[in-house]
Amino acid sequence: ALSLRGIHKSFAGNPILKGISLDAEPGEFIALVGPSGCGKSTLLRILAGLETADGGEIVVGDRDLSPVPAADRNIAMVFQSYALYPHLTAAQNMAVPLVMRKLTRAQRLPFVGPLLPGRRQAVAAIRREVQDMAVSLKIDHLLDRKPGQMSGGQRQRVALGRAMVRRPAVFLMDEPLSNLDANLRVHARGEIVELHRRAGVPTLYVTHDQAEALSMADRVAVMIGGSLLQLASPQVIYDDPAHVEVARFIGQPR
Ligand code: ATP
Ligand code: MG
Repeated sequence: ALSLRGIHKSFAGNPILKGISLDAEPGEFIALVGPSGCGKSTLLRILAGLETADGGEIVVGDRDLSPVPAADRNIAMVFQSYALYPHLTAAQNMAVPLVMRKLTRAQRLPFVGPLLPGRRQAVAAIRREVQDMAVSLKIDHLLDRKPGQMSGGQRQRVALGRAMVRRPAVFLMDEPLSNLDANLRVHARGEIVELHRRAGVPTLYVTHDQAEALSMADRVAVMIGGSLLQLASPQVIYDDPAHVEVARFIGQPR
């Protein structure tokens, strides 16, 4: 499914990722935790192709994605800030990845595009997919609103919808719930796990919230100082931390 092999990254000579290796099973939910600044977001950005690694391999299926540009990786990422386009409606935001995939460059041109053969059918198919996803996320009543006209929780669902319509091979989420209040957050946990199950693809989920990691993940990856110190079930991480740093971070003395 997803394999990372020896991912290295330095910024201005400072090693940030010191050889990260990890194998995720096809439908596995892995929570990535670790102190602020340990390199979690950098790792996700490298997987998504938003940043290049200095070394290492990213293998999805049996293909090394390292040389593949972000747009062709079929890896979807949900950010803490949701990163929705503020000038587009929810429907248009969710349609962006489909438009990029299903319309040719010429079909996307204003004035010219609409006249090209096949475009009308492609646009209708995109509308249907967005509508179906919106119904399943219960945001179909929000499709005409722009991000500025939605609550944080609603924006978060639109961002999830935009990631889901791509039917990605891998899901990356970087603290997608940290902007929500406590009630909404607990509710959203269950929904994300449910979406993940339905998609059936490996998910790497960064969180600061240990309760979240414990309740959502099949396995928890503990990253400290640019190294993955332990990758195990929540139970094992809590009961039997492999390193004193892991124990210290998880808050339980050995
Ligand atoms: P947090 O939990 O606070 O989000 P994190 O684990 O996601 O932290 P990263 O954002 O991956 O941490 O950053 C890891 C380290 O790399 C930090 O010291 C950060 O300052 C540094 N860093 C990240 N991006 C860059 C960049 N583009 N240029 C220079 N340094 C960077
Ligand atoms: Mg981060």
